[in-house]
Amino acid sequence: MTIDLAAYAKDKGVKYFMISYTDLFGGQRAKLVPAQAIAGMQEDGAGFAGFATWLDLTPAHPDMLAVPDPSSVIQLPWKPEVAWVASNCVMEDEDVAQAPRNVLRRLIAEAAEEGLHVKTGIEAEFFLLTPEGDEISDPFDTAAKPCYDQQAVMRRYEVIREICDYMLDLGWGPYQNDHEDANGQFEMNWDYDDVLKTADKHSFFKFMTRSVAEKHGFRATFMPKPIEGLTGNGCHAHISVWDAPGRDSKENVFAGKGEGQTGEVGLSERGKHFLGGIMKHASALAAITNPTVNSYKRINAPRTISGATWAPNSVTWTGNNRTHMVRVPGPGRFELRLPDGAANPYLLQAVIIAAGLSGIRSKADPGKRWDIDMYAEGHTVTGAPKLPLNMLDAIRAYDADAELKTAMGDAFSTSYIKMKRQEWNSFVNHFSKWEKDNTLDI
Ligand code: ADP
Ligand code: MG
Ligand code: MG
Ligand code: MG
Ligand code: MG
Repeated sequence: MTIDLAAYAKDKGVKYFMISYTDLFGGQRAKLVPAQAIAGMQEDGAGFAGFATWLDLTPAHPDMLAVPDPSSVIQLPWKPEVAWVASNCVMEDEDVAQAPRNVLRRLIAEAAEEGLHVKTGIEAEFFLLTPEGDEISDPFDTAAKPCYDQQAVMRRYEVIREICDYMLDLGWGPYQNDHEDANGQFEMNWDYDDVLKTADKHSFFKFMTRSVAEKHGFRATFMPKPIEGLTGNGCHAHISVWDAPGRDSKENVFAGKGEGQTGEVGLSERGKHFLGGIMKHASALAAITNPTVNSYKRINAPRTISGATWAPNSVTWTGNNRTHMVRVPGPGRFELRLPDGAANPYLLQAVIIAAGLSGIRSKADPGKRWDIDMYAEGHTVTGAPKLPLNMLDAIRAYDADAELKTAMGDAFSTSYIKMKRQEWNSFVNHFSKWEKDNTLDI
């Protein structure tokens, strides 16, 4: 049954709705709408001037309407008079094809036509910095190998506890929190869910973490590599595919023993083909999973102070081993370790489905399973492509992958490539200190 947002507001004491959509760069944009006006907005959507939406629209386009999806509504736990609601972008009664949540919804529907229901969990690592964002907020957090540091996580207990309490109240099933591998870095985990729910939760988690951190006088960042020399912010995705959505699913389509694999890996034939699609399109999909200039300081990175970057550099997969791009930790799921904290929550999930479906349709072979320590023995690997070295490489790889571009939607792909090229140009036109330091006396 559709939630009536006006009745919801009365029931919960909500005064304002934040009608929110996610743009092509992963930014969240919103209008604050008083509860008195929500009934009309639920029907027609909130209006946004197309050119300002970061959806590759011109000043001449008609208004873009953000139509709330009431099933996604969340009362802000830290400000209960406001409720956030994810919305779908519509223009002149048609879905805006390139809007990230629409791209994902279309791919979910395509997968469902083949009887496949994707469920994912993500690990959105973040740093807690000073408000200016230039230093780690905790001056005592200086250990060379700070992962799981008990004292350091307790020094930020008030922030972590508050966020975790909210996830408990929201019924997300959070189950662990820790200090991660870089000074100032944390990770909080909650249960996997249907892919659209995970994408909405991912968006909301970023909003909530930033808001709670700000409240405590800190700055939370998901930037892929915020501090030189330290481990970056990954956003691993765990993926399984089921026979039905939500609680109705009984069978994990990925679980089983695939041909040519050892028993412990436990991926079915279809699971293996889905993984094959991810492997086949990996260099291209990096343009989505690793979407910023800074992303390429995390992958292909030199060894960090802790001794390992925990990020991949080549397109390889393995069993329960964290040095490869894909890890199969147990039966029925795999972990894609490529994405970083800048990945757009909707496009991240969309590109996983797009590549996976392409793999299933073409019965793609994921190739050899590498049971080696990739950081120590990576040089022995033959035939595995290296991941793109920078954002332009990744955009070019995406542009060259006609199959993936079409699977993501041609309108989306055209807009995305265009806007990302503009971003790259802005980066290279920027004059850096490095150039002067290295070229002045040449
Ligand atoms: P690790 O750090 O070992 O990679 P985490 O415990 O931090 O793993 O995160 C694992 C994520 O994978 C969680 O979101 C969890 O709910 C999710 N997950 C577990 N099983 C599945 C599954 N079958 N399908 C999709 N996601 C899963
Ligand atoms: Mg105006
Ligand atoms: Mg983890
Ligand atoms: Mg981690
Ligand atoms: Mg992980």
